[in-house]
Amino acid sequence: MSSTSFNVRRVRRQLEHLLGKENVSDAEIDRICYSRDTWPLRLMQLGRLVTKPQPDLIVWPTRVEHIQQVLRVANAEHIPVTPVSGGGGVCGGALPTQGGIILDLKKMNRICGLDEESYTVTVETGVLGYELEQYLSARGYTTGHAPSSIFSSAVGGFAAARSAGVLSSKYGKFEDIVVSLEVVLPNGEVLRTKTVPRSSMGPDLKQLFIGSEGTLGIITELTLRICPVPESTKFASFLFPDLHTGMEAVKQIFRRDLRPALIRLYDENETRFVLGRFMSPPEGASVLNLTYSATKELVSLERRTVTRICEAAEAKSLGPKPSKHWWDNRFDLYYPSSINLGPGMLYDVLDVAASYANLEKMYWKMREAIEKLGVSTMSHFSHFYPDGGNIYVIFIGHASSPEKAEAKYSQVWKVGLDAAHRAGGTLSHQHGVGLLKAPWMPIEHGPSGFALIEAIKQHLDPNNILNPGKLGLGSNGSHSHESPTANGGVNQ
Ligand SMILES: Cc1cc2nc3c(=O)[nH]c(=O)nc-3n(C[C@H](O)[C@H](O)[C@H](O)COP(=O)(O)OP(=O)(O)OC[C@H]3O[C@@H](n4cnc5c(N)ncnc54)[C@H](O)[C@@H]3O)c2cc1C
Repeated sequence: MSSTSFNVRRVRRQLEHLLGKENVSDAEIDRICYSRDTWPLRLMQLGRLVTKPQPDLIVWPTRVEHIQQVLRVANAEHIPVTPVSGGGGVCGGALPTQGGIILDLKKMNRICGLDEESYTVTVETGVLGYELEQYLSARGYTTGHAPSSIFSSAVGGFAAARSAGVLSSKYGKFEDIVVSLEVVLPNGEVLRTKTVPRSSMGPDLKQLFIGSEGTLGIITELTLRICPVPESTKFASFLFPDLHTGMEAVKQIFRRDLRPALIRLYDENETRFVLGRFMSPPEGASVLNLTYSATKELVSLERRTVTRICEAAEAKSLGPKPSKHWWDNRFDLYYPSSINLGPGMLYDVLDVAASYANLEKMYWKMREAIEKLGVSTMSHFSHFYPDGGNIYVIFIGHASSPEKAEAKYSQVWKVGLDAAHRAGGTLSHQHGVGLLKAPWMPIEHGPSGFALIEAIKQHLDPNNILNPGKLGLGSNGSHSHESPTANGGVNQ
């Protein structure tokens, strides 16, 4: 049963008329399927058969006009609309917390054009990362965007949540790959930014919608930068006596203007996990996995120079095997629903980022705060830039009941993100905000910054129909649904 107040049957008939019967459903099985995304807390709740929050209706638009029509109906009736692309988001961003309509964009999956002169590709929002890369690689190209969720997430979701692929050091995050976009505003109007390499005509509107997680508009089409598939790919691993020495070497790599496609530095706990099948690393040691992917000449130069930097830092070369093993399994790791979240288990990943001046301090503070709760951590740094990088703190714990595990899960996030904020970091590098990090939005942006974001939301979406409650925006909608965090206490 839904707690939303509109006449579901009447609206369903209206939408069936506009989109076709096959593109609208209020079947219970569909409503249950769309009661989840890939947020580990939601998966834990599903383990005890909590099937709320549910949407009232699911629609599958096949073209932009359908989205315009859905939003006009939703505005007239004050119905919440939650967009979903792949459903692989890990923060509850695609959960229909206030019921209403799920707008599943997977049928908008056409590749609209390849511009081999400008090196761009234009795609509809529902194209999965993997489908796009298959299409491009058959023609000798890549976007370079390869997140571990490439099979389960779509380009619209990558843009909406500011995703980062594993090769971000070379290709950038998704916001660096987007050249232009088309978005349907909450009132049904279409806004399209120009497909140009750069512009100085005032603020960059495309960046307003990138990262807006469905709260300001529905992204319908994207033009993305592409590159030739690299000529050569080589692997290397180095073992450092400790994390600090490894971090100093990474800084040197960037200071020498090198950009290996993949650079992953592991703390001592995850080093034991990563190297387990190859060796037993010494206490405190830290492994660095590298992938060089470029022209043959550049790969050869990168290998020689990085090897010199690492050897000067007293690192031991482990050859290519550990890094190559990670690469071959890069899409298999850490899939939350494949981990046995048995009763009482808790698991997730805090993805934060900071400048080099704060990065190591932030790691130690977060680790200390989380481990004080009796929860284990292992961490890696996998997205590096010339001025800093991210931390990926994986935590695994146990409690005496599923309900207690959910409460402990929320405590871990609270102490972890508070520690990251105090250390000067951003509270999300790549997974976005959703419901999970919504309470930290005013903390991250400060009172004036968050008030500005709220004012933009109020201007674009006065009826608060688009993804209410996500990013901490528009949570006072007229419809109420039990929040999935109510038991977990994330919002407390
Ligand atoms: C196993 C696994 C591995 C992962 N690895 C990575 C990784 O390496 N790097 C990384 O960055 N992330 C990773 N993620 C997280 C996830 O893939 C990203 O957050 C991705 O950007 C979500 O895309 P999606 O299509 O699945 O989005 P969804 O879950 O469908 O939606 C995410 C958010 O965006 C909104 N939204 C979706 N589509 C649109 C649209 N067209 N217009 C407006 N709003 C929209 C939704 O309402 C929601 O708020 C991983 C997730 C899993 C489960």
